[in-house]
Amino acid sequence: MNFEGWGSQRWAIHLTQLLNAANPPDRYRFNIAAFAKEISASLFPGDPIAEVRSVDLEDCEGALLPSDSGKRWGIYVNKKGSPRRRRFTAAHELGHYLVHRQKYPDGLRCDEAAVDGRNGVEIEREANDFASTLLMPLDDFRRRIPAKSEADFDQLSECATHYDVSLVAAILRWLRYTERRAMIVVSRDGYINWAWSSETALKTRRYFKTSGAPVEVPARSLVGQSIFTEEAREGVKHPDGVWFDEPTKEMTLRAERYDLNYTLLQFADTVSMFRHDEPRELDTYDRFLGVRK
Ligand SMILES: [Zn+2]
Repeated sequence: MNFEGWGSQRWAIHLTQLLNAANPPDRYRFNIAAFAKEISASLFPGDPIAEVRSVDLEDCEGALLPSDSGKRWGIYVNKKGSPRRRRFTAAHELGHYLVHRQKYPDGLRCDEAAVDGRNGVEIEREANDFASTLLMPLDDFRRRIPAKSEADFDQLSECATHYDVSLVAAILRWLRYTERRAMIVVSRDGYINWAWSSETALKTRRYFKTSGAPVEVPARSLVGQSIFTEEAREGVKHPDGVWFDEPTKEMTLRAERYDLNYTLLQFADTVSMFRHDEPRELDTYDRFLGVRK
């Protein structure tokens, strides 16, 4: 087969078909390291992935690096990450190997925002798209949470377990296909670290710009009051003015392990009165500016 010019989607779909055909017992929890080595050795015996290892990586989550000879590649993931996080990162680096290694013979290093495809860099978005599609096939995910349905932390956690990925990876996957107006806000100590909106939320200007001065979480929100009860996890409806100038459903939980708070915001799906015709590119640009490590 000639793989010349294959992009991230084409690769992910091709490999998904191979996995579907092989249908291993742990279809959605397959061993990504073994898979990366096997696939690369059979398709590209001239420069395969020879190792996939968890190592101490300073200030990055993952890297794709060539051997000294340039004839072998290694995928390295941050050993400080959870096993699920590392699995997603390894898939992201496999995406770089398949799509970008020829353009980047010296390899690539990716921080957390890059791995999540949140930093506005095209090759990072592509590698994230590859990893998301390979690990969380859209048809299967959509059966679990239909594009028109609201989601909650229980459903999204079940998806994360089913696909053996982090909760954040599952949430971002859902936000990228849902037709609902929804967003995730990740905060620490009362300030927003980063946020990500679904397409329809973005089009109605529901996003946070966090590039400039630190943005505080709203004082009257659950997360703003450090309320991490079961009720907060299940969701509370706020009136206008708490998060935005429309009623907003907030679900908040505390991720102790990372010392972070995860907040899901969901809005009514009648959007006609909020719609405006500003091109998405502008909003996207705003949002990328808003990404902060
Ligand atoms: Zn990357």
